[in-house]
Amino acid sequence: LGSALAGALRKLGEHTVVDEEVMDACLKEVTKALLQADVNVQYVVQMKKNIVKQVNIQELAAGLNARKLLEKAVFNELVNMLEGGGAEVKEKFVPKKGKPNVVMFVGLQGCGKTTTCTKYAYHFQKKGYKPALVCADTFRAGAFDQLKQNATKARIPFYGSYTETDPAKIAADGVERFKDEKNDLIIVDTSGRHKQEDSLFEEMRQVAAAVQPDMTIFVMDSSIGQAAQDQARAFKATVDVGSVIITKLDGHAKGGGAISAVAATKSPIAFIGTGEHIDEFEAFDTKPFVSRLLGLGDWTGLIDKINDVIPMDQQPELMDKLVAGQFTMRILYEQFANIQKMGPMSSVMSMIPGMDGMLPKGQEKASQAKIKRMMCLMDSMTDEELDTTSLKILQDPKRMERIGRGAGRGPGDVVELVEEYKRMSKMMGKMKGMKMPKKGGYGHS
Ligand code: GDP
Ligand code: MG
Repeated sequence: LGSALAGALRKLGEHTVVDEEVMDACLKEVTKALLQADVNVQYVVQMKKNIVKQVNIQELAAGLNARKLLEKAVFNELVNMLEGGGAEVKEKFVPKKGKPNVVMFVGLQGCGKTTTCTKYAYHFQKKGYKPALVCADTFRAGAFDQLKQNATKARIPFYGSYTETDPAKIAADGVERFKDEKNDLIIVDTSGRHKQEDSLFEEMRQVAAAVQPDMTIFVMDSSIGQAAQDQARAFKATVDVGSVIITKLDGHAKGGGAISAVAATKSPIAFIGTGEHIDEFEAFDTKPFVSRLLGLGDWTGLIDKINDVIPMDQQPELMDKLVAGQFTMRILYEQFANIQKMGPMSSVMSMIPGMDGMLPKGQEKASQAKIKRMMCLMDSMTDEELDTTSLKILQDPKRMERIGRGAGRGPGDVVELVEEYKRMSKMMGKMKGMKMPKKGGYGHS
């Protein structure tokens, strides 16, 4: 979804004059992209209508930046869809302290329920709750062992049985036990099946009846794509889903299914899972999510950070150079220098599309050293080398050798720098012609 939408918007940017025809063609692309991501037709049609209402063609003709306006309209509409368009979507659930909140997790096998139960428990444990886990999955071999292992690692009390085969009975017993023990967040993990089938839904109904949950959370694997709408709807029809958690957003999934899940369950997305580890779990934040969905990176946060360190009057120049595709070593140098000023490296870098790969978690130190090393090499470059975009010059063996020697570095380091430049340059090329939102653009409207 991300790249298709970004592509549609990019197309608009290629037109100097925007008339109704261009606008229509562009909306068609946007619509197609949304449909391909299995967003319900009804919502796509609605969204298109809303966009048309927002974007005034006269305004466009008057020379305002068409692309920016349409981008903003699409952005707003996606945010709106994820927030359920307002009134009909339930409030986000916050467990009440001191009360025995019972939360039941449902979802197909493999979607990440058991992992997510522990993450959820751990998240609230850190906030001062006393969570406990109940394993009501008697379907999957080893389900109880898995939960036990996760719970033990996170020091969270758990309950389950190797002999009892009735999930509703185990669930009821577990909940009762933890109510007695004054746990205030009792999490019930349930089974899934490979497919949606009647027996699974019957089981969900029975467990729900046995534990009377205060909240039922539907867990959805972000990579299921087309199936999102159906799956979410089927669970909603069976149990009183009030919250959604989307897992595996660290993978290649585009996340478009999230819109379907919200629409089908009329429930907000509470959290997202971004890895297998217990703390790879984040409270859901709509705007950055939509930015990523649109392939824009987290510009809102980035622009705020940039505003903190680069004087306002120097920003347009840098942005213009970037979007004009004149990405040179000198710009890379300036970028690195700015990034060093911006503080916590990983948080800054992770917001810049293309840079996020440079700073794997837990390797900030190594990456910082790498940036220093590269800046040191650039210090021994000539003005010609710093200001060129020609690879012929940058990859000239004689020059490379001289640069390395001048910086007291080996040829491998120069190769590394040139490769990094090429990678960034390619990335910037993709942004060519793109209008960077100014402060107050995305996320502040
Ligand atoms: P369940 O059958 O619904 O209980 O799913 P599990 O919790 O057993 O998870 C299935 C697999 O997905 C396991 O290998 C998990 O480690 C993995 N998993 C769960 N959540 C995430 C996530 O957010 N990201 C990634 N990469 N893997 C996840
Ligand atoms: Mg499980």
